Order: sequence, then C-alpha cells, then structure tokens
Amino acid sequence: MIKESSLLAEQASFREMIKAGDYFIKVLNKGQTLRILDIEGNQAADTLFYNAQNPAERYNAMDTIREQASIYLTAGSKLLSNENNTMLEITADTCGRHDTIGGACATESNTVRYSLEKKCMHACRDSWMLAVAENEEFGIDKRDITHNINFFMNVPVTEQGGLTFEDGISAPGKYVEMKAYMDTIVLLSNCPQLNNPCNGYNPTPIEILIWD
Ligand SMILES: [Zn+2]
Repeated sequence: MIKESSLLAEQASFREMIKAGDYFIKVLNKGQTLRILDIEGNQAADTLFYNAQNPAERYNAMDTIREQASIYLTAGSKLLSNENNTMLEITADTCGRHDTIGGACATESNTVRYSLEKKCMHACRDSWMLAVAENEEFGIDKRDITHNINFFMNVPVTEQGGLTFEDGISAPGKYVEMKAYMDTIVLLSNCPQLNNPCNGYNPTPIEILIWD
C-alpha cells in the first residue's frame, strides 16, 4: 500500500548515509520514527530488530506474517517480536511491498546458489557479524542473528508456492518509514549482493533518517 509521509527531511534529528556493503546499528527510541531512503533505487536493506532492554526479544517473521495474514510488509504492517509484542509499525511506504521470507545473503548461500568461487564475496551476514563484534555494548552476538526483513527487495511467491528473487520494484527516492513502539535496536546491512537482481547488480547507498 502506497502511503506518503508528512515528515520533512530537514526536521529529522538524525541523518546518515550508508554505503552498500556497510552496516548501521543504533537504538531507535520508543516514539521515534525511522526512514530508510532508497537513494538510487533497486537497493535491498537487510534489517533485524531487537528490544534494546532485552535483545532476546527480537523481530519475528513468523508471528508478523501470521498476525497480519500477509506475506508482504507495507504501510500498516505491525512488526511483531517473538513474544508477540509490536516492536514497530510501518507508517509510510512509497515502495509498496517489502520481503520478509527470502532471508539475508551469506557466503554459504552464495556458494550453494551461484558457485564455489563466490564464497569470498561480501554478504549481509558478514556485515551483521562485523556490526555485533564492533559494537558489544548492544549485547547482541552471533546466536542472535535470526530471520530478517529485506526492505525494498522483491521476492514474489509463485502460485506453486515457490520463491524467486526478481528485479526490484523500488526506484530512486522511494522510502519506507516505521515508528518504534519500544526502544528498539536497528541492525541493518545495506546489501552488497552482486549475484542476483535484488540490487539491480549495482549496490548503491541508502540514507537513514530519524525523527523524534
Ligand atoms: Zn544481502
């Protein structure tokens, strides 16, 4: 569902550009709104959320899909935790659809899907690992890396129930916005994938904006 935001970029309390292949980790306080801006279009932002007070509570794709009875995320979607609490709600979305089934890219899956020599290519799971290793104060470690949301990524489910990675439906300037219902750690990898069309074979920067 396309829903535009009334928030003005110049009134944001925080703005940061994230290059493709880099990570972003930050606590989004309860009541704050986060925007992910797809600057050049066709970019995937692989994202995980944790309760900042208790990171054992985290975003859960299964509960989210079941409770909203939809496999895609868009404006109005409530992002639920493994304890069935609402962590965030998507309040604006100019892309229209986001994936939470396809999972994040990893060197292992690149090897299985593409070829053995893809093993050394940078992947989202590596970015998350680096983020948690360099930011121990968040209290997250390897075992906390679970199933994620791929903002802007197009993973349609076929009539037969199959999954495919398709060319993106996002475009330059499209964004998704969500409001935090609890103090939430945002852990995001701006996807460096070059082996499938999720980034249009050309990973590009995104911008993160936060309003109080
Ligand atoms: Zn990725």
